[in-house]
Amino acid sequence: MKIYINGKYYGREDARISVFDHGFLYGDGVFEGIRSYNCLVFKLKEHIDRLYESAHTIMLDIGMTKQEMIKAVLDTLKANKLKDSYIRLVVSRGTGDLGMDPRKCTGKPAVIIIADKITLYPERYYKDGLTIVTVPTVRNMPEALNPQIKSLNYLNNILAKIEAVNAGCEEAILLDALGFVAECTGDNIFIVKNGGLYTPPQCMGTLRGITRDSVIELARKNRIPVHEHVLTRHEVYISDECFLTGTAAEIIPVVKIDGRVIGSGKPGPTTRKLIGKFHTITAKDGVRYKI
Ligand SMILES: *Cc1c(COP(=O)(O)O)cnc(C)c1O
Repeated sequence: MKIYINGKYYGREDARISVFDHGFLYGDGVFEGIRSYNCLVFKLKEHIDRLYESAHTIMLDIGMTKQEMIKAVLDTLKANKLKDSYIRLVVSRGTGDLGMDPRKCTGKPAVIIIADKITLYPERYYKDGLTIVTVPTVRNMPEALNPQIKSLNYLNNILAKIEAVNAGCEEAILLDALGFVAECTGDNIFIVKNGGLYTPPQCMGTLRGITRDSVIELARKNRIPVHEHVLTRHEVYISDECFLTGTAAEIIPVVKIDGRVIGSGKPGPTTRKLIGKFHTITAKDGVRYKI
């Protein structure tokens, strides 16, 4: 495995950064998770744009142009000879002292690209659907740590994941500070009701996921009405279908939430149709590279 760190490649054992890196000490940094399918990187521009937006808000100068970053991602895929890949792109504040002041990080930010494979959930969950649970941990408020920033500080999500695992579930629904459904630990949530698709708007505790946007676009193209609308747990419980979206998970059906069976208790027709359409676009759209 060849891991990119600031323009050089290192093996898995040698790919190291300083213990004084503020990404490690404070979670001070940003990241993206990107996928490639058969030598096509899906929505690469959108991921790079969002990375730079996250960095802009935390006032982190990446020190590379977007074009250079795109080239680095493609070069890493080529160096690893991966046709299908999950790419983790991390930019941390870099090395500073033990204080949190980012001005003390005088060196370059650490730009790390790891191209690997990932299967987030066992295949049976894609076939049979997930059982999930609403957890006590509330999604970060935008005025505290805006969920639109894909930051290295992931403890909000990890606490929710721990609560889900403690409850014997693979995934958690987090509510926002008002009690509306926000999203899952690393995935957006959709429901289907009376033939329409509903998903929370990005304004409160919901990250505007790139998979989420792709699903909205796909649904509209297929004349499925889409509503970006606040959702309560009640609306989720009485939905006909439910599924989660994210780059790593792609589209995964949900069949039980907080003990309530969703719809027929099996992945529904709209979910299955969208999964099929999604695989069609990931197989043909994207930035091509040669290995
Ligand atoms: C990355 C992420 C998602 C999914 O976004 P995609 O762009 O579809 O990968 C959803 N929620 C959280 C908290 C995330 O970090």
